[in-house]
Amino acid sequence: MSKPLTVADGLVVAVKFTVRNQAGEVVEDTGDGAHPYLHGADNMPPALEAAFTGHTVGDRFQVTLSPEEGYGERDEAGVQQIDRSEFPDDFDVPVGASFLAEVDEGEVIEMHVVEITKQHVTIDTNHPLAGLTLTFDVEIVGIRPATAEEVEHGHPHGLHGHEGHHH
Ligand code: ZN
Repeated sequence: MSKPLTVADGLVVAVKFTVRNQAGEVVEDTGDGAHPYLHGADNMPPALEAAFTGHTVGDRFQVTLSPEEGYGERDEAGVQQIDRSEFPDDFDVPVGASFLAEVDEGEVIEMHVVEITKQHVTIDTNHPLAGLTLTFDVEIVGIRPATAEEVEHGHPHGLHGHEGHHH
């Protein structure tokens, strides 16, 4: 019998997790679906990947990340009220959802819609989990070698390596 794979660079790891803030409220939950990521390719905060390293399928554990280790501190300058006229007439991203916008020199950032009024759209460029101390309840549910294409792209193509490719 071969040795089971343990989490390491170049492997696609499927994880289930529930994330809670300091008040114990669930802020993110993979539910029954496993979330695949490519280990060592900055798909996840480095401190989280470090906590996963060496674990094997079936392992369950808890990791707590400070804002610095997680998604950074909030920058209130990231909250901006933009005139409705700056958006196309068919703009239909609802409050709570996000969209990608090119800011300058081809730099693309994710903007989260906070509020929409007749006059303004309020957006927030902070990651929704920024500024929070987060506790992850993690279960490792799958580990497999990444395909050459996945390594080249720096992300997994679904749980099995050949699905969900949309770019
Ligand atoms: Zn790809």
